[in-house]
Amino acid sequence: MIALVTGANRGLGRETARQLVAAGHTVLVGARSESAARETADALGGGAVPLRLDVTSTADIDHAAEEIERRFGHLDVLVNNAAIHYDTWQRAVSADLAVVREAAETNVLGPWHLTQALLPLLRRGSHQRIVNVSSEAGSLASMGGGTPAYSLTKAALNALTRMLASELRPEGILVNAVCPGWVATEMGGPGGRPVQDGAAGIVWAATLPDDGPSGGFFRDGKTHPW
Ligand code: NDP
Repeated sequence: MIALVTGANRGLGRETARQLVAAGHTVLVGARSESAARETADALGGGAVPLRLDVTSTADIDHAAEEIERRFGHLDVLVNNAAIHYDTWQRAVSADLAVVREAAETNVLGPWHLTQALLPLLRRGSHQRIVNVSSEAGSLASMGGGTPAYSLTKAALNALTRMLASELRPEGILVNAVCPGWVATEMGGPGGRPVQDGAAGIVWAATLPDDGPSGGFFRDGKTHPW
């Protein structure tokens, strides 16, 4: 199986890539810096392949599609993991809308654009899964203040997950959103759960069987409230 993980040079993306490589899969290690992609792929070894990919860059997305086409001719799994979270303790009533725009570019339009660009390759895959790494912060059921740009963009990613799942289900492409829980990464900070545990839920969604769910929001393989 050929998988692409975005933001795979550190945190949950890197651990997701590591677990997929350990399971014997070929994993394109997406990172916005070419050197970070190379260093991570070298460290992971096995079937790890470096791929420069800033998800906000049209040129990088076009290049990624060309590279995957040239090297493999298809893609099985897309893990939209890369995201930013720059607005802790802001309030919607006074949020810096420039931060909201930047978060939307990275957290929603990036995965959306990348998914569109890679769909022709996914359609040629034999185990088609799209995993959108979301967050509890995007859950409308528990939505409050605190991180307006991040929460809004994760809620939008969840909505995108529903739309894509509905449109792609007839083609056998499963699309799900996953909340990894609070994880001890640079974004999550110390005190979170081990990165291995958070990534395991992403890998679960990336390796669902053909009769697995689509259009769901999951944490640790269990349904999470939208
Ligand atoms: P980190 O901040 O540790 O890592 C984020 C990764 O995304 C980095 O590799 C970063 O690259 C990359 N990235 C950021 N912007 C871009 C871009 N434009 N193009 C490509 N890559 C980019 O975050 P986590 O590992 O903690 O988070 C991973 C996912 O899990 C995110 O979607 C996050 O929202 C979600 N999540 C995390 C939680 C947590 O507690 N950690 C909780 C809930 C959800 P670079 O090194 O270049 O900055």
